[in-house]
Amino acid sequence: MKKIVIVGAGFGGLTVFHHISTWVNNADAQVTVIDERETFLVKPSLPEVALGEKDIRDITFPLRPVIESYGRFIRSRVHRIDAKAQQVYLDDEVAMPYDFLVIALGGKKDFESVPGFREYGYSVCTDILAPRLYEALEKFEQGNILIGSAPMLAGTRLKDVPHLETACEGPVGEVAFMIDNELRERGIRDQARIICFSPAEIFFEDVGDKVHEAFEGLARKHEVEVVTNKVIDKIDKDHIVFKDGSTLSSALTVLIPTYRGPDLIAESGLGDEAGFVPTDENFQHLDYANIFAIGDVASRTVPKLGHLAVEQGNLVASLLRQRIVGQGERYDYEPEIFCIMNMGHRKAMLIRSNTLWGGKTDISYHSSMSHLMKSSFDTYMVKFKGKMPPQLAQRLLNVYLGRLQE
Ligand SMILES: Cc1cc2nc3c(=O)[nH]c(=O)nc-3n(C[C@H](O)[C@H](O)[C@H](O)COP(=O)(O)OP(=O)(O)OC[C@H]3O[C@@H](n4cnc5c(N)ncnc54)[C@H](O)[C@@H]3O)c2cc1C
Repeated sequence: MKKIVIVGAGFGGLTVFHHISTWVNNADAQVTVIDERETFLVKPSLPEVALGEKDIRDITFPLRPVIESYGRFIRSRVHRIDAKAQQVYLDDEVAMPYDFLVIALGGKKDFESVPGFREYGYSVCTDILAPRLYEALEKFEQGNILIGSAPMLAGTRLKDVPHLETACEGPVGEVAFMIDNELRERGIRDQARIICFSPAEIFFEDVGDKVHEAFEGLARKHEVEVVTNKVIDKIDKDHIVFKDGSTLSSALTVLIPTYRGPDLIAESGLGDEAGFVPTDENFQHLDYANIFAIGDVASRTVPKLGHLAVEQGNLVASLLRQRIVGQGERYDYEPEIFCIMNMGHRKAMLIRSNTLWGGKTDISYHSSMSHLMKSSFDTYMVKFKGKMPPQLAQRLLNVYLGRLQE
C-alpha cells in the first residue's frame, strides 16, 4: 500500500488531493492530508473582506468533510520532515510515514522583519489581518494611504527561475483601486492620497508592456500614485521610512510582507537559502525523488500565485498517478500570470501574461465582465470545495481571451 501524504491543504495541496481522490480507492494507495487549519481560505478574496464586501465565513469552507470522503484528514501543525526516514512529525512528536510526500505549505509571511508593523501596520494577507484593516478603513478620515510590498527572498539553487523583487503585486494594485472606490463612495476621496510603493524598478515587474500601459492608464484615472525602487525599512506612527533614507507620511500603511520559506523546511534541511523548496521542472525535490513541492513554498514558483499552485498541483497529481498506478498522461504545465484584480464598483482588471517566461501573451481586460468572472470563480471555489471550474469553462475562457489578444 503506497502512502501519499500531502502537507498543506491550500490551493496546491487541495488540487493534488482532488485529482488523487478520483483513483486512490481503486489503487493500492492511501492519501492523508495534514493541515493546521480546519478550513480552506480563499486568499484572493481577502481584499474584499478588508473592504467590507465579504465576511470571512463567505470565503472559507471546512476541509475535513471534503477530504474524509476519499482519504484521511489530520488537523495538526507539521513540525519537521525527516526525508531520509520518510516521516513527517506532527504535534506531540506523532510520526506519519510516507512513500510520496507533497509539500504545499505556502510561504511564511515575515511581518516581523519590518519594525513597527505590529504597532502601526495593516495587511490583507491573513484572515486575522484583513478584518483589522476593515476596522481601520472605517475610521479613516484623511491623509496618505500607503500600500506596498516588502522584498521577496530567493535562493540560488535554481538558475532557470526568473528573479523578482516582490512575491506578487496584484493585491497591492487591487487594494489601492478598491480603497479609491470606497473613498469616492464616502465622498472623501479628495482627503486622501493613495500611493503604491514597490521595491522593484517597475511596478508589476512580472508582466509585459501592454499590461503596464493599461495599469498606468487606470492608475492615472483613479489618481493612484506609484513610487518604485522603494524598499521599506520601518513603519512609524505617522510615516514610513525607506532603506534609502527617504520617508513618506502615512495615515494608514498596508503591507504585503517579505515571503520566505517556512522555518520547518530549513530546519528539516529541505530548503534553499530563503527556505523555499528547490525542485526540478516537475516540482520534484532536487535531492529526494519521492518529495514534491508546489505552490508558494516552492523555489520554482515565481511569482507567488494561486493560479500557478493549481497548475503545479495538476502536474504533480498526474506524475503521482503515473508512478503509483502506471496510468494517465503527464499534465502539460505552462506557467503564466493569470489573475483578476477587483477594482470595486463592479469593475475588475483581468491580467494574463507569460512574458516573464519568454511568451507573447500579455493582455489586460478592464470591465464588468472581468468582475463577473472573478466573483463567479470565487463562488465556484467555495461551493465546490476547492475544485477548479470544469475544463469546458476553461476552454471557453481561453477562446474568449484569445479573441481579446487578436
Ligand atoms: C491578499 C491576497 C490576494 C491574492 N490574490 C491572488 C489572485 O488574485 N490570484 C492568484 O492566483 N493568487 C492570489 N494570491 C496568492 C495565492 O493566495 C497564493 O499563491 C496561494 O494561496 C498559494 O497556494 P499554496 O497552496 O501554495 O499555499 P496556501 O494557500 O498558503 O496554503 C498553505 C496551507 O498550508 C497550511 N500550513 C502552513 N504551514 C503549516 C504547518 N506547519 N503545518 C500544517 N499546515 C500548515 C496552511 O494552513 C494552508 O492551509 C493572493 C494572495 C493574497 C495574500
